[in-house]
Amino acid sequence: SMATQRLLYSTTSTPAEEVVTGKEEVHEFKTETKRLLNIVANSLYSEKEIFVRELISNAADALEKLRHSQNLDSSLDSGNPLEIRISVDKEKKQFIIQDYGIGMTLDEINENLGTIARSGSKSFLEKIEKEGSAGAKDSIIGQFGVGFYSTFMVGEKITVYTRSAKPGSKGYCWSTDGHGSYTVAEADNVAVGTKIVIELRDDCKSFGSHLEVDAIIKKYSNFVGFPIYLNDQAV
Ligand code: ADP
Ligand code: MG
Repeated sequence: SMATQRLLYSTTSTPAEEVVTGKEEVHEFKTETKRLLNIVANSLYSEKEIFVRELISNAADALEKLRHSQNLDSSLDSGNPLEIRISVDKEKKQFIIQDYGIGMTLDEINENLGTIARSGSKSFLEKIEKEGSAGAKDSIIGQFGVGFYSTFMVGEKITVYTRSAKPGSKGYCWSTDGHGSYTVAEADNVAVGTKIVIELRDDCKSFGSHLEVDAIIKKYSNFVGFPIYLNDQAV
């Protein structure tokens, strides 16, 4: 019944942990992506918190896409609730965001996380190249919104576990320290959707604090149409 399902999903029972089972393939980032990552990693402290907004917005987009696909084809129900789960741990210096949305196939991973096709990032890079790195000091990362790459403002290592909602899709683990290349490999125990694990830099470990992240989520997520949980508590 619905009631039983609710109960199941709101408990803290830990699902089996993801494990990399495939051979790790190493890919170089595109030259423009490398340049962008370099700039983003040296951003101002004051704007770092926008990575939370960007990740929540991507998670909500992915959930919306899954909901839309489910309306067209009800067999796409992954059995998981359409929600966003964030967990933070100051001791482990981790920030984790999981959505049970549309997920990504291997081609989509390489396309979406390896290049900067996205217009916001492109115009940001163009502006920086024109004005030199002085432009970066003007706190413009937040204005352009560099999307997924904003995770590199706070993370020394980013790992993405994802599995597409397309029937028969495999799970993958994508990982990088942002220095030139990333690895991608098949993985088991990956839920349909996307889980992003950020190993926080020492100077950014405040983003592992429940209180701090709770406040940031509240600041940016007013219009998110899906429930958000922080360390299993509704935000
Ligand atoms: P934008 O959201 O403007 O497209 P981003 O840099 O934020 O740019 O994300 C790039 C792309 O990566 C997205 O368009 C999407 O295809 C993919 N992506 C990012 N996060 C997720 C996610 N949580 N689930 C599925 N796809 C994602
Ligand atoms: Mg985005």
